[in-house]
Amino acid sequence: MRPEILSLIFRNISSIVGIGPKLENLFFKLLNDRKIVNLLWHLPYNNIKREISKKINEDIIGKNIVIKIKVIKHIPSIYKKQPYKIICSFDKIEIYLIFFNARHPYLKEKLPINSYKYVSGKIEFFRNNYQITHPEYIVNDDQLNSIDRISPIYSLTAGLTNKVFTKTMKNIIKNLPELNEWLSKKTLQKYKFLSWKESLLKLHSPKNELDLINFNNFRKRIAYDELLAHQLAILIIRNMNRKKRGIKFKTSSVDIDKFINELPFELTKSQLTAIAEISKNLSNNFQMVRLLQGDVGSGKTIISIISMIIAFKSNYQSAIMVPTEILANQHFETIKSFLKNFKINIDILTSKDRGKKRHDKINNIANGNTKIIVGTHSLIQEDVKFYKLGLIIIDEQHRFGVHQRLAFTHKGLKPNILVMTATPIPRTLTLAIYGDMDESRITEKPKGRIPIITTSLLRNKINNLINAINAKIEKNEKIYWVCPLIEESNDIDAKAAVDRFNSLKKLYKNKVLLLHGQMKSDEKDEIMNKFKYKNYNILVSTTVIEVGIDIPSATTLIIENSEKFGLAQLHQLRGRIGRSNIESNCILLYKNSIGEIAKRRINIMKKIDDGFEIAEQDLKIRGPGEILGKKQSGIASFKVSDLHFDQDILQDVRKDSIKIIEEDPDFKSDRGKKLKTLLYLFERDIAIKTLISG
Ligand code: ADP
Ligand code: MG
Repeated sequence: MRPEILSLIFRNISSIVGIGPKLENLFFKLLNDRKIVNLLWHLPYNNIKREISKKINEDIIGKNIVIKIKVIKHIPSIYKKQPYKIICSFDKIEIYLIFFNARHPYLKEKLPINSYKYVSGKIEFFRNNYQITHPEYIVNDDQLNSIDRISPIYSLTAGLTNKVFTKTMKNIIKNLPELNEWLSKKTLQKYKFLSWKESLLKLHSPKNELDLINFNNFRKRIAYDELLAHQLAILIIRNMNRKKRGIKFKTSSVDIDKFINELPFELTKSQLTAIAEISKNLSNNFQMVRLLQGDVGSGKTIISIISMIIAFKSNYQSAIMVPTEILANQHFETIKSFLKNFKINIDILTSKDRGKKRHDKINNIANGNTKIIVGTHSLIQEDVKFYKLGLIIIDEQHRFGVHQRLAFTHKGLKPNILVMTATPIPRTLTLAIYGDMDESRITEKPKGRIPIITTSLLRNKINNLINAINAKIEKNEKIYWVCPLIEESNDIDAKAAVDRFNSLKKLYKNKVLLLHGQMKSDEKDEIMNKFKYKNYNILVSTTVIEVGIDIPSATTLIIENSEKFGLAQLHQLRGRIGRSNIESNCILLYKNSIGEIAKRRINIMKKIDDGFEIAEQDLKIRGPGEILGKKQSGIASFKVSDLHFDQDILQDVRKDSIKIIEEDPDFKSDRGKKLKTLLYLFERDIAIKTLISG
C-alpha cells in the first residue's frame, strides 16, 4: 500500500480548490494523467522576473516591473469595448492602468483615489502614455513582499493559462509533504543536492536570481530520484525472476541443427552466438529476459523463429508481438514459410479480427491448438488467454514501454521473454533503461551484403533522378519513396504522399503504388503484397514502412524532407534496403535552407552505415535544449530525467541501486523503507508488489 504521506499528492487534480471538470480535462490533456504528482514533474521552462523600478524611461518598455503609484483619477468605460482607465502618478509622470471588461465597484474599492499601491505588470507605451494593462498584482504599500518577484512559465496546452497553472501549483506546493531522505549523505554532498521537497519548491517557486542559476541542479536532484526509482524497480523485478522457477524447455540440438542446415543461407557468427545464448537460457530453470540488439537487416527474425521452434518442441506456445499490422502480416508469412516442413498451427491476431473470427482465433489460442501466434497489441488484451505460453517475443521494442512489459510476466505464468530491437543504443543507456537484462548483440551483417551508398540531393534537383529510377525499373528492382514528414499527423502526411504519387504516376505509369496510414488495413496488406510480388516498382509511402519491412529486391530508398527526421529514424528507414547482394542506394532529399544539426545528420548518414555508431553520434550532436523526443530517439522518455543531459549521474545511480539491492534486497532497513516511498512516488508499484509477493 502506498504510504499515507503520499496520499495528498496522489489525489485527483480535481480535489484542488478551483479545479472543476473543465480545468481537470485541460490538465489531463497536458499531462495525460489526473494525479497531482504528475503536475509536480511538469517543470517550468522559463521565468518572468519582476523588478522594482524607481524610474520609468524607454529602457524598461516591455519589461515586467513593480512600481509604487498614487491613484489620481478613475475613468470608467462608457461603452462595452472601451477599457476602464485609472490615472496614477509615479515619479512625476502619469501612468495609466487599463482594464477591459472590468467590474467598476471592484476597481473603486481596490484602487481608491489618493491611495498608494504597489502594482506589477508589463509596462507599455501607447499613444504617448505609459500604461500597464491588467496589472498582475495590486497590493497595499506595506505588502510588497506578497508580490512574486519571479514566477515560472510552463509549457501548456490551449485553454490552460500560465496564471491558472501557477496558481494551482502554488496550492500544491503549499502542502507538499516532508519525505524522509532516501539519498545517501555521500550523494547529497557530492552533487550538493537539496532535499526532494526543497528542490521542488525551488523549481516551482524560485525566489531569487540564485535559484534561477541553480535550476538545473534542483532538476537533477529530481532526475536522480526518478532514475533511481526506475533502476531499483528493474533490479527488483529481475532479482525475483532469477529466484523463481521459470519454464524449462528440453532443447534437442539435433532439431535445431537440422533446421539451421536446411536454411537457404549461412547464419553469421553473431547470429549463432545469439542462438546459443538463447538456448542456454531456455534450457535452464530460470526465466529468460533477454534483449537482442542488432542493426536493421542483421537477421533477427530468424533467431526468433529458432527460439519458437525450441518452445514448440517442448510443447509450449509462443507469441510474437510487433508494433504494426503490416509487420504482423509480414512476420506471419515469413514464419509460415520458414516452418513449412513442421506440422504446426500458426495464426495471426490483430485489431482487424473482430466478431466470430476473433472469437475462433482466441479459442484456438486458449485450447492450445495454435502454437505460434503473431500479433499486435491485440495480444495483450484481457480476454486473450493462453494454454501454455512459454515464450514471448517482442519485436521492435522501442515502440513499447519497458517495465510494464517486464511485469507482463507476473500474470501467473512466467514465460521466457525475448525483446528484439533495431534501434541500438549505447551501453550506458541500455543499462539505464533496461537494467542488466541479459543482452545479445548481432554485430555483423549477413555475408555478401554490400554497403548502401547514401547521397543527398537538393529537392529542386529531383529531375536528376528520373533516369536512375528508369534504370532500376528496367532491372526490376524496387524503390521506396518516403514522403515528407510535415507534422505528426496522419492526415497531412497522407496528403503529401498522395501528391507525390500523382506526380510520379505521370512519369512511371502503372509501376507506382501508394501506401499511407489513413488506408484500411486490408488495403495496406494488398498494396504491400502487390509491391512485393507483382510487377510494381515504386512504393510511395509515409513512414508507415519504417519498421521491420523486409523486401530483399528493394534497392532504392528516396526520402523527401530528410532534414526533418532524426538520425535513428533515418537509419531505420534506410534499413529497408540493402537486404540482398545487389547494390543499394539511399537518396536524402533536402530543402535549400536547412539548419546546422540537420546538415550534420545528413553527413553522418552519408559516412556511417553502422547503427550502433549512428546511435553514439546521435547523442553527440544533439544540442543543448534538444530534449530526446520519443520519435527522434526511439527511446521512451522519462518524466523529469533526460538520458542525454543526465548521463553524468547514470553511473552513480546504477552503482547506488546495485548496492542497495545487495545490502537490503527486501527493503527492510531504515533506508529501505524510505526507498519504498520513492518507488511509490514514481509509480513503480509493480516493483513493490514483486517485493511483497516474492
Ligand atoms: P532485422 O534484423 O532487421 O529484423 P530480418 O530478420 O528481417 O532483419 O532479416 C533481413 C533479411 O536477411 C531477411 O530477408 C532474412 O531472411 C535475411 N537473412 C537473415 N539472416 C541471414 C544470413 N545469415 N544470411 C543471409 N540472409 C539472411
Ligand atoms: Mg525485424
